[in-house]
Amino acid sequence: MPRRFSITAVLIILSLLAGCQPAAKDTGMPINPSDTVKVLVSILPQADFVKNIGGSRVEVTVLIPPGASPEDYEMSPRQIQKISEADIYFTVGSIPFEQISLPRISSANPDMPIINTSEDIMAEEQEPHEGHQHDPHVWLSPSLVKEQVQVITRSLIKMDPEGKDLYEANLEVYTGELDELDLEIKGLLADRHRDDFLIYHPAWGYFAADYGLHEIAVEKDGKEPTAQEMMQIITAAREKGIKNVIGSPQHSARSAEAIASQLQGQVKVIDPLPADYIAGMGEAAQAFKEILTD
Ligand SMILES: [Zn+2]
Repeated sequence: MPRRFSITAVLIILSLLAGCQPAAKDTGMPINPSDTVKVLVSILPQADFVKNIGGSRVEVTVLIPPGASPEDYEMSPRQIQKISEADIYFTVGSIPFEQISLPRISSANPDMPIINTSEDIMAEEQEPHEGHQHDPHVWLSPSLVKEQVQVITRSLIKMDPEGKDLYEANLEVYTGELDELDLEIKGLLADRHRDDFLIYHPAWGYFAADYGLHEIAVEKDGKEPTAQEMMQIITAAREKGIKNVIGSPQHSARSAEAIASQLQGQVKVIDPLPADYIAGMGEAAQAFKEILTD
C-alpha cells in the first residue's frame, strides 16, 4: 500500500471537526499521484460511486468504455496493462462482461483483490427462477446503490486506512444524495397514468421494483424476438395503451423501431450507464415520467 503523509490525515480530521456537517466530497489536498489507490471498475456509474467515496485519494479506470455494451464488450491489450497496475477491482457482480473477462483480469494481476460490490444484495436475494438469469443491473436502483457504496467504502478503508475519516464522511454525504434522488424519482413518477413500460433491453427491473413499475422486454434472453413474439408484444402493448419503446445508447434495436412504428409511437432513448449517476438517474426518471403519462 502507498505510504501517505500524516499531515494529510491531520488536516482531514481538522476539516471534519470544523463543522457539524459531513465534510465536502474532496479535501482539496494535493495527493502525490503515486500514492493514490488505483481502482478498476467495470462500468461508468461505478466510477462515479468510487470517486464520490474516494475523492482525490483514488484514481479510477473504467473497463467498459462509454458507448460499449456490458453484454459483449471485449478488452484491448492496452487495458490488460492498466489492470496489471491496479490496486483493487470493484465488480458489479454478474454482468456478462465480468463473467467472461474475470479469468483474464485476475491472471493479469493475481494479487489484486476483486470485490463484488453486490455481495450483500445477492446474499439477500432469492434464487433466480428456473431458466432465468440473475438480473445484473443492480446499479439502476438508488436503494441498492446505497449497499454497493458501503461495500466500496469498507474495501477502500481496508486498502488505505489513513483515508478512513474521509471515506466515511463522503459515504454519509453520498448516501444523503441517494436518498434525495430516491425522493425526486418518487415525486416525478407520482402522477403517471400507467405502470407498464415497453423496453428493448430489460435493464430497469430493479428500478421498476423500487417504484411500482412493470417492465415488458422486447429482447428475449439477449436476442431479438421472433416474428411471433413481436406480435405478442404489440398486442400486449396496445391493450395497455403503450405507444413508445425505450431504447438505450448501447444497443441498436431494429425490432424496437419496428414495434414502435406498429404502435404509432417512437423509440425513446434512456441511458442505463450514466457517467454522472445522480444527474443521469434524474434525467432517466424525467423520461420515464413522460413515457408513463403520454
Ligand atoms: Zn444490460
